[in-house]
Amino acid sequence: MIDKIKLLPDAVANQIAAGEVIQRPASVIKELVENAVDAGSDTITVNIVDGGRTLIQVIDNGCGMSETDARMSFERHATSKIRNANDLFCIRTMGFRGEALASIASIADVKLKTRRPEDELGTEVNIKGSKVEYQEAVSCPSGTNFAIRSLFYNVPARRKFLKNDSTEFRHIISEFQRIVLCHPDIEFALHHNNSEIYNLPKANLKQRISHVFGKAIVPKLASIKTNTSIVTIGGYIGKPENARKKSGEQYFFINNRYMRHPYFHKAVMNAYEQILPQGMLPTYFIYFEADPDTIDINIHPTKTEIKFENEHAIFQMLQSSVKEGLGKFNLVPSIDFETSGVVDIPVLSKHSGFNPPQVTINHNFNPFESQEQSTSSKPKYSYPTREKKETENWEQLYAGFDLSTEQKETPVTVSERKTNNLFQLKGKYILTPVKSGLMMIDQKRAHERILYESFIHSLSSKDLVTQKSMFPQKIDLSHDDLLIVEQLNNDLVALGFKIKLDKESVTIEAYPPELENINPQEIIDGLLQNCRDCDNSNTSPFENIAITMAKAGAIKYGQVLSQDEMQEVFDKLFATPMPNYSPTGRIVISIISNDEILERFK
Ligand code: ADP
Ligand code: MG
Repeated sequence: MIDKIKLLPDAVANQIAAGEVIQRPASVIKELVENAVDAGSDTITVNIVDGGRTLIQVIDNGCGMSETDARMSFERHATSKIRNANDLFCIRTMGFRGEALASIASIADVKLKTRRPEDELGTEVNIKGSKVEYQEAVSCPSGTNFAIRSLFYNVPARRKFLKNDSTEFRHIISEFQRIVLCHPDIEFALHHNNSEIYNLPKANLKQRISHVFGKAIVPKLASIKTNTSIVTIGGYIGKPENARKKSGEQYFFINNRYMRHPYFHKAVMNAYEQILPQGMLPTYFIYFEADPDTIDINIHPTKTEIKFENEHAIFQMLQSSVKEGLGKFNLVPSIDFETSGVVDIPVLSKHSGFNPPQVTINHNFNPFESQEQSTSSKPKYSYPTREKKETENWEQLYAGFDLSTEQKETPVTVSERKTNNLFQLKGKYILTPVKSGLMMIDQKRAHERILYESFIHSLSSKDLVTQKSMFPQKIDLSHDDLLIVEQLNNDLVALGFKIKLDKESVTIEAYPPELENINPQEIIDGLLQNCRDCDNSNTSPFENIAITMAKAGAIKYGQVLSQDEMQEVFDKLFATPMPNYSPTGRIVISIISNDEILERFK
């Protein structure tokens, strides 16, 4: 009998490997650009013709290759990056398998020109379908220039499978973006059919993100940073209101390499839980740094799925890091208040004791008197901002809310004020002037946030306040609904409820004082509704209850508020950790900027 097993010729083996590594033109770009990065380049240019079908060219100014290396680089398992199996556990380079060039050369017409800085002459190699056509000395710039033509020319099935040029080019762009977002210190350019798509100068990370996605993205991002012994997490996360239904702008990187990580994605989503409408995806650019021997990048041929040794712990750290970053968005209005960089909105609560300024009012002040005259005599009025000593605190707290410094130019009588200038509009919004314009607060959503925080707080605090029902009302419920209330009962008790469960009804015997004016039936209906809606979300039942009650208990639209009430909403809102969003993720605060106002009076 004849033996059947034969070794495949190299060219065939390479083609098979190519099937795995090179799925489409974008994969070639990824491999070549990563090689250019590994070569220490600081300028990398990519030229594409016809979605990569006709030409893919990558030019770098990196270390280049010797004559022999240029030839060797196309051998299977030829790599300068690892020498033994142990090296696999401390990979710092983008590539390491040594199969990319061999694969590409087996399914395309490849021309390589390369020169090391120290060599006078470079070398040019042409390989087509794994066969070396020629190699000769050339004069060329130092660095490496790969030109790939006729991709998949000898694999008709693959070539046919390619989508139209614009689809392939979209894939190229997303591979390109994943790489450039990791290397802001490298200059990149991308051209398609001779037109420039990207020209990215060296920059810092934030600038790079803005060069790639447009300037408009920058104000929508907050930075995150967490440093622990097992991992460093840094980068940027997007404002909840800029979240979109589609996926795309979610990026994880590990040690400067793009990765997909559904589990970590979940950690991010958890952090956004209470502030993002269901089905929306936030933007994020999150960079992890971890010791290479605590991760395994070897589990997938295209190396985008990565396993971490401490996944569980990192999940927690990521979640809290993102939460902390989200907290920064509360300071968005503070950008407006920012006059001296010391304004910290959350301290502006009723209980944070500070002394209002003593303002001298000159009742005889005559605004028609000229400035000279008025200053020649004793000052007739003084502005709080000038009373440095007594008002230091005050100034810091109110820097943004107050009569702004511009008003110094217009002589006005300043009346003593402990509170903000608050106005109500249409029984719906609370308005107040701030440094940057006119702030509008949605009264109902603001109150929802305030109540939500106080309910969440009562879970953790021992001294629970509860109020007895004067006329306990019996509410009839179906069997299913009764079961739900029964399940929620512990949480309800923690919130200050006392509910008596009967066979076919419940009676609310006591409730949290915030819900004093709310019809018990409405509370129970809301709870049940929310539970059914949120059955498949991972909001905790407790949070669900808190949301329902906040919605039920919040001041309604149309309710006229007194000055004191508005002040209370205002103070308490800014004492919450997240004043900008209601617990269901809706916007609470909006500011009409000074520019917009000026525009109207043009
Ligand atoms: P890997 O990147 O996994 O090592 P590749 O097949 O992508 O394998 O590349 C093989 C080798 O060719 C690399 O290890 C490197 O030594 C060399 N090489 C490839 N591209 C470049 C480049 N642009 N500049 C310098 N050397 C390169
Ligand atoms: Mg490589």
